[in-house]
Amino acid sequence: MGSGKAYVIGGGVAGLAAATALAERGIAVTLFEAGPQAGGRCRSYFDPAMGAIIDNGNHLVLSGNGAVSNYLSRIGAKDALAGPDQAVVDFVDLADDKSWRLQLSNGFFPAWIFAKDRRVPGTKPGYYAAYAPLLWAGRAATIGAAVKDRGALWRRLMQPFLVSALNTEAETASAALAGSVMRQSLVRGGHASRPRIAHPTLAAAFVDPALQYLAAKGATMHLGTRLRGFTIAGRAARALEFPDAMIATGMKDAIILAVNAPVAQSLLPGLSAPNDFRAIVNAHFKLAPPPGASAMLGVIGGTAEWIFTFPDRISTTTSAADALVDEDREALAARIWSDVRRALKLDAPMPPWQIVKEKRATFAATPAQDALRPSPRGPVRNIILAGDWTQTGLPATIEGAIRSGETAARLAARHLRL
Ligand SMILES: Cc1cc2nc3c(=O)[nH]c(=O)nc-3n(C[C@H](O)[C@H](O)[C@H](O)COP(=O)(O)OP(=O)(O)OC[C@H]3O[C@@H](n4cnc5c(N)ncnc54)[C@H](O)[C@@H]3O)c2cc1C
Repeated sequence: MGSGKAYVIGGGVAGLAAATALAERGIAVTLFEAGPQAGGRCRSYFDPAMGAIIDNGNHLVLSGNGAVSNYLSRIGAKDALAGPDQAVVDFVDLADDKSWRLQLSNGFFPAWIFAKDRRVPGTKPGYYAAYAPLLWAGRAATIGAAVKDRGALWRRLMQPFLVSALNTEAETASAALAGSVMRQSLVRGGHASRPRIAHPTLAAAFVDPALQYLAAKGATMHLGTRLRGFTIAGRAARALEFPDAMIATGMKDAIILAVNAPVAQSLLPGLSAPNDFRAIVNAHFKLAPPPGASAMLGVIGGTAEWIFTFPDRISTTTSAADALVDEDREALAARIWSDVRRALKLDAPMPPWQIVKEKRATFAATPAQDALRPSPRGPVRNIILAGDWTQTGLPATIEGAIRSGETAARLAARHLRL
């Protein structure tokens, strides 16, 4: 192995995946994270209004997310995700208060579509074929153009599923990215589509065990340390510039830049990267859920799109929520609480609450934005790019972020051997 050093800039999930993958290969790695804690957009913190540790957003992954499974196994956290043994999801439609349970069958043959009590109410088996074009859509196509269905299946399953998977309004979102998500989950059947949620917190699953793993492997970690810039000459980074220090680097070193898209563009001017983003709004209510409440409930026709219940709190998620970010917080909390009361059939005044608005939660998964995503090999020869916004073939998700980190680590290991 050569004498180069490995650096990871950014301690979000992509950076942590990259750093742990390097450490697993026995490579000494140094990680720099600007924030006081790691995790980036996937973090937990103590919230005074809730009097508890909460997540910045409810993060759902699916059992078929292979990169997530590998990462959690590596860091010793494969039991940190909770969810049902079968691919079962409860829904309620607030338009008519109808409730149902979607129950996917295991295996590639979609037997669930042919069972009236397992599929979406108001649909017939033939309706589901309308979504097949997503599986072979070209990269310029939108879901709106590829799929003609706007009936019960669209309203009660596919539109909410696709909006939350892509964090983009379904009509204008990329059909190819939707197809990637479907190939990983619904197409493979129930085994790959079981919902998985980090319990008790995101940090306990995705962040803290990774930091412990890195510490045990002798990695060096600098939290609260923001990279200000690179000194670049001859298409190589010659130094990492921090507020109070410079670290000289050379062609033999491998630098994984795992920051978010706007920061990457400011550090590497001229870099192609997504520049249009979508918000996600989460509401948290400090109230134990009623007995028997589903761990995860899809809500059709409300402001809340998903309700997640935890032993001590009820949380909701609304994706592609740009219309909500400027809304008065009290009014928004009251409106979401009214959805929660109806959906969970609760008779209780609004408990202490918190609204978390992530304005730039993810890039907009439109064909135009997807086309701006760069490959991991950036314009500078000893800098490798990682992050959910790089070209992963997936929308901005934990699975995509981890996949990008793994790819970057592979490229960095190869670079260090040169
Ligand atoms: C509210 C919300 C809900 C979501 N829900 C889901 C979900 O249900 N399922 C799912 O799969 N995904 C979900 N996502 C998306 C998921 O969180 C992201 O795809 C993933 O966390 C991105 O990780 P990343 O490492 O690519 O980027 P980031 O998390 O943005 O990490 C970048 C890191 O770089 C650091 N940094 C920035 N600048 C510098 C610098 N100059 N020097 C050093 N460090 C720097 C940042 O502080 C940050 O820690 C959600 C996102 C949000 C915001």
